[in-house]
Amino acid sequence: MERTLVKDTVNKIDEGIILKGWVSSIRDHGKITFIDLRDRSGIVQCIGQNLPKVTIESVVEIKGKVAKRPEKLINKDLETGGVEVQVESLEILSLAKELPLPIDTEGLDIDEAVRLKYRYLDLRRPRMARNIRTRSKAVSFIRNWLIEREFVEVETPILTKTTPEGARDFLVPSRLQPGKFYALPQSPQQYKQLLMVAGLERYFQIARCFRDEDPRADRAYGEFTQLDLEMSFVEQEDILQLAENLFTELVEKIFPEKHIMQKPWPRLSHKEALAKYGTDKPDLRKDKNDPNELAFGWTLDFPLFTEQSKEDFFHGSGQAKFAPSHHMFTAPHPDDVALLDSDPTKVRGLQHDMVLNGFEVGGGSVRIHDATVQQKVFDLIGFNEEQKRQFEHMLTAFAYGVPPHGGIAPGIDRFIMTVLGEPSVRETIAFPATAGGSTSVVSAPSEATEEQLAELEIKISKAKRLNP
Ligand code: ASP
Repeated sequence: MERTLVKDTVNKIDEGIILKGWVSSIRDHGKITFIDLRDRSGIVQCIGQNLPKVTIESVVEIKGKVAKRPEKLINKDLETGGVEVQVESLEILSLAKELPLPIDTEGLDIDEAVRLKYRYLDLRRPRMARNIRTRSKAVSFIRNWLIEREFVEVETPILTKTTPEGARDFLVPSRLQPGKFYALPQSPQQYKQLLMVAGLERYFQIARCFRDEDPRADRAYGEFTQLDLEMSFVEQEDILQLAENLFTELVEKIFPEKHIMQKPWPRLSHKEALAKYGTDKPDLRKDKNDPNELAFGWTLDFPLFTEQSKEDFFHGSGQAKFAPSHHMFTAPHPDDVALLDSDPTKVRGLQHDMVLNGFEVGGGSVRIHDATVQQKVFDLIGFNEEQKRQFEHMLTAFAYGVPPHGGIAPGIDRFIMTVLGEPSVRETIAFPATAGGSTSVVSAPSEATEEQLAELEIKISKAKRLNP
């Protein structure tokens, strides 16, 4: 006999079935035992006599018969509350020890270090299971939507060269070229622009980005996921329209209980946003206590540069008088190009930030596709010759016919966190790192062996080894 999923028991009244899953709860009434059995589809009540001793969260196989519950015993809180399974036999497939943390609560009050150490148990919690499944649905909606509109999904390298987005790089030592390092990409920015030179015209990727910055509620440590996309022969308006349509339809389809406050999404200039709300990512919700209200908006017309150099911009060189507001490939507003020479602080950039309930859930821009302008921006942000050489490939590529292009990269973790009203992005990621930078369950980073280090020609100072 084939396995029946819990949710399908309601269609199998009076039939014999086999269920497989986890024992969610046990109520012992002497000879009769009630077991709530959980699988990926739900929970159903099973009743048996003289069952073998089983523990909570053990994995079992139950053979039995589905019976309709008498009217007064129907459990309206359960999708399968109209039936119960009369157990004929129960086989223990794997006996569970007592769990180190409760999983039948929301879990937000449990020490996060414990939750992440036992993340595979924490993910059994209904709230977490729902978050991970919802995320998958949202991503698959995005993928289909873009592919229907002739976008091409492309994977770009993880072992690569620095792609500055204003954060610190993660470095990976090279064995074949000892003394040299790869950098993990802070975003696929350069590759997606090169794909426009390659003629793809419409690219996207569910891309992992790596940034060595301190974690916050809305930013996981180390890595996060973006919907990275880029288009050729477009203006800023086209990018805004596309992202707005995609995310509006995504919410309406995957989160029908949510209400988008204003359509089309309101737009504010950077100046207006600061003057009116004191922030470039204002929370435009009318009722901030309503968990179903989503206030999307665009912030536009950012200054191309911020005047103070970002402390850690570009290896902390600290040379720059200006740092890019977004990144150094963002195009200046066409009306402001002349100001690059006379008054760079007045130049507006063709940057767009997607804001949702007070979070920046995405950013992007129209790109520079003129080598002279790119050179000028490099100079203004204080690049020396060696730093310019690091990006020479972009100027070289642009010398062979580059279409005007631009894009955006909404953050998946942050979007899901905001829509679901979760307190941290880590509630939307299966295996996030802890605030201290240790990974869930497997606790990386860890020390390398002497042999590994020797192969890489790396020496770790003794003091560091003893006092990590
Ligand atoms: N690469 C940018 C970022 O990660 C997004 C973009 O400009 O498309 O923020």
